[in-house]
Amino acid sequence: MARRVVIDADECIGCESCVELCAEVFAFNEEEEKAEVILPEGGSEDCIEEAMETCPVDCITWEDSD
Ligand code: SF4
Repeated sequence: MARRVVIDADECIGCESCVELCAEVFAFNEEEEKAEVILPEGGSEDCIEEAMETCPVDCITWEDSD
């Protein structure tokens, strides 16, 4: 089953850690002052996992996309 990365925008505090760790998957939305996912199904799993572990509010998760 495929899965994709999602950010809970209500929880995100805009610390940019995920963007710094994994810029191929996460980008910072200056208008919203929150991170957003730019490559939901791609990118290096290692850096995605690292971003998930580092996020201070644990708002990055995997979601089944099927
Ligand atoms: S690490 Fe978490 S709180 Fe920080 S910008 Fe990314 S999603 Fe938001």
